[in-house]
Amino acid sequence: MLIIASSNGAIGIERAMWTLKNGGSALDAVEIGIRAVEANPEEHSVGYNGYPNILGELELDASIMDGRTLNSGAVALMRGFPYAISVARQVMERELPHVLLAGAGAERFAHEIGAEKWEPMLRDEIKAVWRERLAASSESNDIPELTDESPLLEWVRLATDPERVRGTVNFIAIDSAGDIAAGVSTSGWAWKYPGRIGDSPIIGAGNYADNRHGACACTGMGEMAIRAGTARSLVLYLKIGLSLQEAARRAMLDLRDLGGAYIGGMNLIALDREGKHIGMSSRSGGRYIYQTEDMDAFQESEREVVTIPMRWAGEARK
Ligand code: ASP
Repeated sequence: MLIIASSNGAIGIERAMWTLKNGGSALDAVEIGIRAVEANPEEHSVGYNGYPNILGELELDASIMDGRTLNSGAVALMRGFPYAISVARQVMERELPHVLLAGAGAERFAHEIGAEKWEPMLRDEIKAVWRERLAASSESNDIPELTDESPLLEWVRLATDPERVRGTVNFIAIDSAGDIAAGVSTSGWAWKYPGRIGDSPIIGAGNYADNRHGACACTGMGEMAIRAGTARSLVLYLKIGLSLQEAARRAMLDLRDLGGAYIGGMNLIALDREGKHIGMSSRSGGRYIYQTEDMDAFQESEREVVTIPMRWAGEARK
C-alpha cells in the first residue's frame, strides 16, 4: 500500500493511509485525503477557503479516477459545495453516464445527492485579500466595481499573478488489492477570468490512473497540462515501456516544447504499478510526500527538476 501526494496533502495523508490499512480502497483513501485538504482553513488553493475569481466568486474544480476501470468523475466551476472531490466521486459512481459536470449543472447534481453545502462560500478574510489584490492592481488604488457587465480582460491581466495565486492538491493511492486511484482538487487560478477551467477536472490533463501501468497528477499552470495532455502522456509513456523516471521526464519535456505566449510553472507526481514513485517540477525546491503501510508518518521527497523557461505575454520571466 502506498500513498503519494502534493505537499499540501500532509494534513490528510495519514488518515488516508489509515483508511487503506483498515480495508478502504484506493478511491476511499484519495477522497478522504483530499477532503482533509478541502476543509483546511489554512489552505488557499483548494476547497472552501480558496482564493476566488476576478469577480470574487469561488469556483471549485476536482476529479477522481479509478485505475481498475478507467471510470472517472469530475466537477468544474462548482460554487457553494466545499467537498468538490466527493461530488466528483459521485459523478463517477451514481447512475449517470457522464464524466464531467460544470457550473450550474454540477451544483444542481451536488444538491440532488445531498452534498454538504457551505454558505457563503467566500469568508471575510478571503474577501479582504481579494479586495486588496484588486486595489493593488489599480493605478489609483481604488477597488473597481466589477459587475456582470464589466469588461474584465484588463483586470484579469493585472490581477492574476501566474506564480503566486495557484495551487492544487494531488493524491494517488495503491490499495491492498493493488488497485490504483488518483484525485485532484483545486479552487483554480485566483483572480482568473470567470469560467476558466484548469487541468484538475480534465481527465488526461491533470489526472490519470490506470492499474495496468500507473498514475499521474499535476499542479501548476493547468493550461499547459491541458495542451500537452500531461497525466495521460506520462501513463502512456509507461505503457510503451519507459521507466517511471523516463516517462516523467518525457512528460515534462513535452511541456517545455509548448509554444505561445503563456508558459508558467508545472509539477507532477506519479507512480508505476510496482509502487515506484517520483515527483517532478519545472523549478528547484519542490517536494512531495509519500507514505507506505509500514511507515508511521509520511516522508518528504525532493522533486526532480526539468526546467521550463517561463514566458509571459511575450516577456521572458525568471
Ligand atoms: N493546476 C491548477 C489549475 O490550473 C492550479 C495549480 O495547481 O496551481 O487550475
